[in-house]
Amino acid sequence: MVKKEFYLLFSFLLVILVFLPIKSTSAQTLSDIPENYKAEVNYLIERGVVAGYENGEFRPERFLTREETATMIGKALGLNGEKPGKTVFPDVSPTSFASGYIQSANEQKVLMGYTDGTFKPKNNMTRLEMAYLLTSAFKLSSNQDVYYVDMPSGKGASQVIKNITNAGITDGYSDGTYRPNNDITRIEFAVMLARALNPEFKIQPPQYTPVKMYVTDNNLNIRKGPGTQFEVLGKLQKGDEIISYSIEGDWIQIKTDNVAGYVHKAYLSTEKVSADRVITIDPGHGGSDPGAVGNGLKEKDIVLSVGLYLRDYLQEAGIKVVMTRSTDVFISLDERVKIAERAGADTFVSLHMNSATSTSASGTETYSSTSGSSYKVQSSKKLSEFIQERLIDTLGTKDRGEKTEEFKVLKTNSLPSVLVEMGFISNASEAKLISTHQKETAEAIYLGILDYYKWLEK
Ligand SMILES: [Zn+2]
Repeated sequence: MVKKEFYLLFSFLLVILVFLPIKSTSAQTLSDIPENYKAEVNYLIERGVVAGYENGEFRPERFLTREETATMIGKALGLNGEKPGKTVFPDVSPTSFASGYIQSANEQKVLMGYTDGTFKPKNNMTRLEMAYLLTSAFKLSSNQDVYYVDMPSGKGASQVIKNITNAGITDGYSDGTYRPNNDITRIEFAVMLARALNPEFKIQPPQYTPVKMYVTDNNLNIRKGPGTQFEVLGKLQKGDEIISYSIEGDWIQIKTDNVAGYVHKAYLSTEKVSADRVITIDPGHGGSDPGAVGNGLKEKDIVLSVGLYLRDYLQEAGIKVVMTRSTDVFISLDERVKIAERAGADTFVSLHMNSATSTSASGTETYSSTSGSSYKVQSSKKLSEFIQERLIDTLGTKDRGEKTEEFKVLKTNSLPSVLVEMGFISNASEAKLISTHQKETAEAIYLGILDYYKWLEK
């Protein structure tokens, strides 16, 4: 008995020591409030929302528990919770200092329990939970996009962070992060709460005006933060198009289709930059020469259509494309090679459909020539391997392999060059497969070309 009473008394004293507001205290007399946040903390102390500790400290870096949060937000919103009492949570003692506010915060749906029915009063609040809390407590909403490097992908999570950012309550850390899973400190919450309560403390929400920019050099690092000390998240190539959001010193916050981060502003330009790569795409045949014909299809039409899709993919990646033909016209074989060489292209890809008397013949094959410089021969062989592999992966056609043959457009070409026989127009199912998957076929060839360019850079 005696022991139990002692503990009860002890814990009661502890509660008084730790949490009882000291009326005479203000931020001026607290010894450890950061100078730039004194006004915010003082404002909350005067309203009785927060208090310092008896020893004259605020302990700004201490983490905030869920029960402390309930008390502070309850006081800030003027909820009924001064008196401890029973709650709906089995893990909240009815005599705990925060029980009244926990109950009313839950009733008001401002700070609720977990799905297992508990409240976990001693757990720390995370910065994401705080964003949810402030959104409900102050009924915040926003359509304006915001941008943090570590923005959570979940819709609800990103929405609440958006809400508190556009309400002028936070702008994250100076490295562009919000750190949603970090525990929130007393000072961080105090500042957010003061801004939520009093417009005078609000900060200007960051202005994100997305601007299209272009990368001016190859292998530009995308970093996690604004400085070379930050981790490299990926690389950009000359001519790559990015969206820039904001500038911090020498660093620009950017986003591509698959990565977000920072790049040094010296390597970005608002003027379109073209890639170092120039490729010639040569859809075979054309005009009076239909090429192979079968199953109601003409080779010249399919290869032109695939070639135009291929051009789009390559241009999208910042690669300059020169077409030997982009309409249904006849061009001689000699002229096709000349077009490529005159344009200063580095690579030549000719597109064809195969044909055989046996309608059962099927499959995909890619050719290179063994004539010319060893650089041309080696590179051509590599290019045909990459394209062949991508096509087989995508189309699932029979792999007839990567072959050599002295076709005129390959033999007389000074450039690394290949000729692709995408499939057999004489085979009913293959003719149908390719004519109904022109875009996919183009994408596979495009990916093979990218593989080749990456291989060249090594
Ligand atoms: Zn052909």
